[in-house]
Amino acid sequence: MKILVSKCLLGYNCRYKGDNCINSKVLELAKENEIIGICPEVEGGLPTPRDPSERVADRVFSKAGRDVTKEYQKGAEIALKMAQENNVDLVIFKAKSPSCGCGIIYDGTFSGNKIPGNGVTTELLLKNGFRVITEENL
Ligand code: SF4
Repeated sequence: MKILVSKCLLGYNCRYKGDNCINSKVLELAKENEIIGICPEVEGGLPTPRDPSERVADRVFSKAGRDVTKEYQKGAEIALKMAQENNVDLVIFKAKSPSCGCGIIYDGTFSGNKIPGNGVTTELLLKNGFRVITEENL
């Protein structure tokens, strides 16, 4: 299978804190499948490290109050292009991220509360027919 994967799950230090969330199950899958890594937030032009952000309805704001919706949308478009050009069979994204989360995300108050919803990139990929799961579903 061809699988599009959140780069932080592969060990790239692209999280907002400058660290990663390497996942052994994802690495195991990488042995027998073709893995294409992406970090939509970095692709969208955001630096690492960066201020954490959360979705508020259709927009995304950093904790400091900066509207980063454009960067998130740009990253999502790039991810969609990669998924389409590579004709990926599956997407494995990082749970709860405002870009990559699937099914559950933080509620926009930076208080740790979670609500039903998808990250900006996940939403676009789902709309275009891609199957998205998170590392928590592996
Ligand atoms: Fe990981 Fe996605 Fe956040 Fe990048 S945008 S650090 S790939 S969860």
